[in-house]
Amino acid sequence: MDRVLRVDMSALTVREETLPTDLRALGGRGLCDKVLLAELDPLCDPLGPHNELVFATGIFAGLVSVSSSGRISVGTKSPLTGGIKESNGGGTLGHKLGRLGYRMVVVEGQAPTDQHFVLKIDKSGGSLLPATGLWGARCFVSAETLRGEHGPKVSIATIGPAGERGYLLSGIGVTDMEGGPNRYCARGGVGAVMGKRGLKAVVVDDAGGAEPAVADREGFKAAAKRLNQALMAHPITGDTYPRLGTPGLVSFVNQIGAFPTHNFSRGSFEAADEISGEKLYDTIVERGGQGRTTHSCMPGCVIRSSNVFANKGAAQPCRGRAADGPARGWPLERRSHSSARTGTAGRLSGRRLGHPPGSGPNLWIGQASRRGPGGGAGGAFRRLAWALVPPRSWLQSHGRRHPPAKRLAVCHQARFALR
Ligand code: SF4
Repeated sequence: MDRVLRVDMSALTVREETLPTDLRALGGRGLCDKVLLAELDPLCDPLGPHNELVFATGIFAGLVSVSSSGRISVGTKSPLTGGIKESNGGGTLGHKLGRLGYRMVVVEGQAPTDQHFVLKIDKSGGSLLPATGLWGARCFVSAETLRGEHGPKVSIATIGPAGERGYLLSGIGVTDMEGGPNRYCARGGVGAVMGKRGLKAVVVDDAGGAEPAVADREGFKAAAKRLNQALMAHPITGDTYPRLGTPGLVSFVNQIGAFPTHNFSRGSFEAADEISGEKLYDTIVERGGQGRTTHSCMPGCVIRSSNVFANKGAAQPCRGRAADGPARGWPLERRSHSSARTGTAGRLSGRRLGHPPGSGPNLWIGQASRRGPGGGAGGAFRRLAWALVPPRSWLQSHGRRHPPAKRLAVCHQARFALR
């Protein structure tokens, strides 16, 4: 299991590589970071052609005996924070890539303007197909259309209109076991990076694939069993999550003042009881129908922390939306980098740093980068780094010279070391 797919969106080519030996012990976040640190120009424009988007599986992807092993990491230089970002999601994509022997898919370059593609991956390799009729479609519409074209068992990672327009809060929706693209690689604006490459979706068909080989099958099974038993014996993964889902933590986190609310300006929310795991559980049971109090987003997960929330008609709100067609009436032009940064998403999620709109680099930096995981002092340091060394594209467009090499080196380190 050491296949790597490298997709060049500028040349519209796909080539197969083998994972270097020194990277084989890495998976997910570690693999993303190693590749991006080695291959990216730290000053590249995150939404320009020199950034890369890496889909990396965990080292046990494809093995159902290891709980939650099919999660997928999406790594890139974040247009939101300017640092390396790994955004992690559930669903079936990582599991199916693992069954085909893929450890990583690297998407580089940028498709010609107004050309949009779907990357299809199967046993024989990868190919770029035109995303005919999909550009502008919301995630559920896109996934239903692609499942109609490629079969009900494929796994799909897709962006919606926000990613196409380069919004800094846009994520990538990955399909779950029922085919709904509701497992999000949500953070860091990874959807915008995918959209700016002209890539609408990745479709993985694992037909003909198999579980990765294990040298000591009996020993491996015994170890996996011990891991699953430990997960089930833990009060969070063995009780709270399977009973109430991830929202089971809402009440506790709110009580200790760590609940991110009011755009990260406060740590507790006055109406937390209305969105707590207990309230969610009662509502799901009361409505019945398609709702589920516990649910697994991928094969082999014993925690089952997911739940399915039905609307008042007891149906899942987002299913069966293909008939709605694309998000009609919205302007779907590809925005330039600067207009995306200063657009509505930036204003809603970000904070102005002192340049007038449209005149400077990184005008809006999400509060998540300031106070979210990896934020705090790191976020402040990162903002300082950006202020000291603006992106190369901005310097060039404003006729400015580069800062001294020593200052550059310090700032590069800061950007890449801090998330
Ligand atoms: S169901 Fe929950 S615990 Fe299981 S893989 Fe999905 S997100 Fe993780």
